[in-house]
Amino acid sequence: MTLFDLSGRVAVITGGNGGIGLGMAKGMAAAGATIVVAGRDAAKNAAAVAEIQALGAKASTIPVDVLEEQSCRDLIANTVKLHGRLDILVNNAGMSIRKQPEQYTLKEWHTVLDSNLTSAFLCSHAAYPAMKQGGMGKIINIGSMMSIFGAAFATAYAASKGGMVQMTKAMATAWAKDNIQVNSILPGWIDTALTRRAREEVSGLHDNVLKRTPAGRWGVPDDFAGIAVFLAAPASDFVTGAAITVDGGYSVQG
Ligand code: NDP
Repeated sequence: MTLFDLSGRVAVITGGNGGIGLGMAKGMAAAGATIVVAGRDAAKNAAAVAEIQALGAKASTIPVDVLEEQSCRDLIANTVKLHGRLDILVNNAGMSIRKQPEQYTLKEWHTVLDSNLTSAFLCSHAAYPAMKQGGMGKIINIGSMMSIFGAAFATAYAASKGGMVQMTKAMATAWAKDNIQVNSILPGWIDTALTRRAREEVSGLHDNVLKRTPAGRWGVPDDFAGIAVFLAAPASDFVTGAAITVDGGYSVQG
């Protein structure tokens, strides 16, 4: 196996049916991985599988609702049943409810925290025995600029994404002995369904991001292909607990 070869490896990507998740899935597929697309929307799941298969790669879908513990456990169990192994888990499913902190209901708070953070805990918890048995594992957790910064409209989202980074470090520490690396990626502002909605809801967001991003553009899902391959491949075997920004320089702009 070479540094960036994913041949024979099986990767589950929650929220892999669009946006950043699909960008990572396509990157890992091109490097040889077998992809399991795990989202809620059946039409999006099928379209994503077709797009990955069109690259000549192996892909299938196992529907999941990451808000449900049993659904997360079934996703992992069915992946192992179908493919005999699980090497790579990308905890990417996520959403936001944009409101001032005082306007949140407890239910809304839990929906954001459970979708973004608890889901990653549950899928990782379910994946650990299979990875341990396989002698290796790669877990990639998707954070955000809100893992570092705050925003008035993002109380629950920022809490979930800050938590993601700290959970990553704790799991990396616990599972290094099992040759399981756990890292997080912190995307900058990326053009996806999530941020198309944010741009409708937060006035000035589009131009403010452009102004602050040294690369001079919004990111696109394909920007995540390379980092996903790196963190899934033998090239990153001594990298664990890291939080890697992929943001066109947004977070280092003074
Ligand atoms: P998308 O809205 O395109 O993707 C979100 C994905 O999450 C969808 O595939 C969706 O699948 C899935 N999802 C949401 N809730 C659930 C659920 N309960 N069960 C299963 N799947 C679920 O947006 P992005 O690609 O932008 O977001 C991907 C990740 O990247 C998220 O974690 C987001 O927070 C993060 N991120 C995005 C940034 C950006 O600028 N775009 C910046 C920083 C972080 P389905 O449609 O089937 O429900």
